[in-house]
This record gives sequence, structure tokens and C-alpha cells, in this order.
Amino acid sequence: MQPIHIIGGGLAGSEAAWQIAGRGVPVVLHEMRPVQSTAAHKTEALAELVCSNSFRSDERETNAVGLLHEEMRRLGSLIMRCGDANQVPAGGALAVDRDGFSAAVTAALEAHPLIQIRREEIALPPDEWDSVILATGPLTSPALADAIRKLTGEDSLAFFDAIAPIVHRDSIDMSVAWFQSRYDKAGPGGSGADYINCPMTRAQYDAFIDALLAGDKTSFHEWEANTPYFDGCLPIEVMAERGRETLRHGPMKPFGLTNPRQPDVKAYAVVQLRQDNKLGTLFNMVGFQTKLKHAEQVRIFRTIPALEKAEFARLGGVHRNTFLNSPKLLDATLRLKAAPRLRFAGQITGCEGYVESAAVGLMAGRLAVAERLGEPVSLPPPTSAHGALLGHITGGHIETIDAGPRSFQPMNVNFGLFPPLTRMPTRGPDGERLRGPAKTIARKRALSQRALADLDRWIAGDAFPAAAE
Ligand SMILES: Cc1cc2nc3c(=O)[nH]c(=O)nc-3n(C[C@H](O)[C@H](O)[C@H](O)COP(=O)(O)OP(=O)(O)OC[C@H]3O[C@@H](n4cnc5c(N)ncnc54)[C@H](O)[C@@H]3O)c2cc1C
Repeated sequence: MQPIHIIGGGLAGSEAAWQIAGRGVPVVLHEMRPVQSTAAHKTEALAELVCSNSFRSDERETNAVGLLHEEMRRLGSLIMRCGDANQVPAGGALAVDRDGFSAAVTAALEAHPLIQIRREEIALPPDEWDSVILATGPLTSPALADAIRKLTGEDSLAFFDAIAPIVHRDSIDMSVAWFQSRYDKAGPGGSGADYINCPMTRAQYDAFIDALLAGDKTSFHEWEANTPYFDGCLPIEVMAERGRETLRHGPMKPFGLTNPRQPDVKAYAVVQLRQDNKLGTLFNMVGFQTKLKHAEQVRIFRTIPALEKAEFARLGGVHRNTFLNSPKLLDATLRLKAAPRLRFAGQITGCEGYVESAAVGLMAGRLAVAERLGEPVSLPPPTSAHGALLGHITGGHIETIDAGPRSFQPMNVNFGLFPPLTRMPTRGPDGERLRGPAKTIARKRALSQRALADLDRWIAGDAFPAAAE
């Protein structure tokens, strides 16, 4: 049988190789280290953790990444098996001994009779490879990135992310904010009332600019600083440094917007949020990419009127990060529409994080092997953490045409990506009415229970429609 080729032996490529070989199909795994390294990797081990040693929360009932851990365990994940075996104490988080973890993944893959590991850089997958998984990560080698860019088009592969914070829609105070598009313009696919607007007085704006200027920021890595970011992606604090009025004439401009509650009072500045996913559960803060530290973002952004109680599904950032405009380029099974023999996995697809990258590797491996064996495509349930991630990558995102950074940006798994419950839990186990945080926890618990029940049905052979259908 022809092997499936995997390029990149990181978190995603290692998991994909394990899933494919586990189904009896041969794999050739091409990893360029140690022949050539990246700016962040330091060893030649497979599945090297380039920064923190944490897989984040292991709490499966109320935390989306903890739920993803559990789903991966149920799907026979090598990354989770080696993570669990190399756990170090970290409270409710799953943290690992990084060397022990990577050594265990490397040993398992090296010992598998159906996996061949070749230490070489692939600059272009040869035509004769009929099934290829590209899992080369956020630091894909420049030669291969160039080849992908030629295949997908100039604007389809980003080299920096420009991540604006994303807020759970139900945490925005709509007694203060209002829906309206600038000058009520409907635009393609819009209604004229597509943005949530948060108004600021002059005093509030001034205090906000002061907070941005004084806020604690993360600096760029030396190797990131050498790659200039273009003007459309400037962090908000850099815009504020250019002049106190810059933001008021950029992403915070108040023009063309009227607060229906106070039509005669013009806001001095307006923060706009735009729907981010088709489900309508998440809204991103338009133009608010930032290098402020996460705790600072929460503190400062909660001073914005209507966002005092904002719950963030994602906080902002700007990093060196190679990733595709996946919702446009990939089909529901992670194949490049323009060249279906090529399938993508890991962070290059627009997920974020070690565990998410491995989970996308797991799905890519299973989909590639099913194709090789002539089996029908079976996508994970959209209600599972895997399905929610796949939905974000291949179709759950709303495309926009605004100037500035591309709207599809990498994202960790979070409950905002899950289809809402048909019935919200309103009462606790002893019949008392749920309020505030207790209600949120009950909702997360119900989402997790639904996810695991549907995943078990999928493992047992039930079919589910694609997440974005
Ligand atoms: C500096 C940095 C810090 C990060 N910190 C964290 C963190 O603390 N926590 C977290 O959850 N996530 C973090 N991430 C994000 C992300 O989760 C990790 O980068 C994760 O490793 C991505 O998994 P992956 O399999 O997609 O890519 P990788 O794990 O990077 O694997 C890609 C592999 O492909 C190889 N490769 C690249 N090009 C080629 C080629 N042409 N031919 C052959 N091989 C090739 C690379 O050598 C590498 O081994 C960080 C990312 C970066 C860049």
C-alpha cells in the first residue's frame, strides 16, 4: 500500500502519524530537525514543546481544553498518552516533563513498524505523493511556505497573526451598547446593523488611552522583531503612541454611528465588535490586536462601557505565525480545495495551542486514512470539542471585507465555538434557580456532557453532518 506522507513531526504531525499507523496504513514522517531548525525549537525530538510545558486545564466538565483532552484520550491519542505518562504536579492543569514527554512520543513513533521517519526538509511535496499531510506549524520553513503561497495565492498565507480579543456575546451589556453598522451600510451579506457599538465620552477615552500607554506589554522575540508587521496590523497601543487622537480616527472612530438611547449626544469614540462565528455567540473587538499582557487586557478592556462584565473567549496578540485562510481554502476534511492530495493539520490551519494542534493532527490522520482505505468520510460531531475546532477552521467563521488584518485568526478551543444548547439549564440539582456564575458553570457542564455523549456515539459508528452545515 502507498504510504501517507506527513511533513513536520511536531504536535500535529506526530499525532497524525500515530493515528494512521494504528489503522494499518504505512506512514513516512518527514521532519527537518536537526538538519535544519526553526527559530523556536531547540532539540531534535518529535513533538517538542517550544515554550510552556502546560497542556492547560485538565478539567473536562467545565473547561473546553480539558474536554478536548478527554475526547483525545477516548480517540487513542498518542500525545495525551505520553502527556499523562509524563505529568508533573500543576494543580488542575496537565503539565508535563517536556523532555520526558517528547522522548516518549519519539520512541513510540520510532518503534512503530509502519512508521518511517526521515530527517529532511521538504520544500515542495513531489507530485507522486498522492496523500500528504502538511503539519509544519507556525514556523514552517521559508522554502515550503513559499511553495504553499504559490499554490494558495499571495494573501492566503499569513506570517503574523493579528489577534483581536473575542468576547462572548451574552456577556456584553446591551443596555449600554447598540447594534448598528457605520452609516447603516448593509454591505454584502449584512443587515445595516451588524456591529455592536460601545460609546465613550471624552473623559473615558482619555483614561483609556492613558491606560493603554501605561499598560504592561509583551515584547517581541528577537527573531520576530526582524519581521516588520504591516501598517494594517499595528497593535492598538502602538497606534496610541503615535498620537492621542490616532485611535479615534482609526478603529475607535465615532462617525456614522448614533446611539438610539441618546440620539442628540455624539459619542467621542466608539469601540465596535463584529460577529465572529456563524453561530453568533462570539464577537471580536474590531482592530484591537495588541501586545498588552493578558491580565492587562482584561483590566483595561473592562473599562469600556458595556464591556464591564465581558467574558473573553480569546485575548489579543501579535506573533510570528504562519497560517492559512482555512475557511476559504480547505474543504470540510482539511484538504486544500485547489489540490486535494494535500491536507493540512496543526497550527498552520488556524488553531492555536499544543493540544488543539495535536487534535487537528488526530482528525487529519483519521480522515486521510479513511480516504486511503476507501471508507466513507465521517466527521466528528459538531457538538464535540473536535467538531467545534474543525468548524472554526473549515467553515464556522464569518468572512469580512474590512481593511486591516484578515478576520480569520488562530484560536484556542473554547465553548463559544460550540453550537448553543437547545435548552439552557435553569435549575440546579436541588431545584434552586441558577443565577450568575452558577448558570455559566451549568451551561458548560451541559455542553461537555453533550459533547462526550455525541463523541461516544461517533466512536461507535454514528454519522454526523459537517460542523458548518
Ligand atoms: C514561540 C512560540 C511559543 C509557543 N508557545 C506555546 C505555548 O506555550 N503553549 C501552547 O499551547 N502553544 C504554544 N505555541 C503555539 C503552538 O501550539 C505550538 O507552536 C505547536 O507546537 C504547534 O503544533 P504544530 O504541530 O502545528 O507545529 P510544530 O509543533 O511547530 O511542528 C512543526 C514541525 O514541522 C517541522 N517543519 C517545518 N517546516 C518543515 C519542512 N519544510 N520540512 C520538514 N519539516 C518541517 C518543524 O521542525 C516542526 O518540528 C507557541 C508557538 C510559538 C511559535
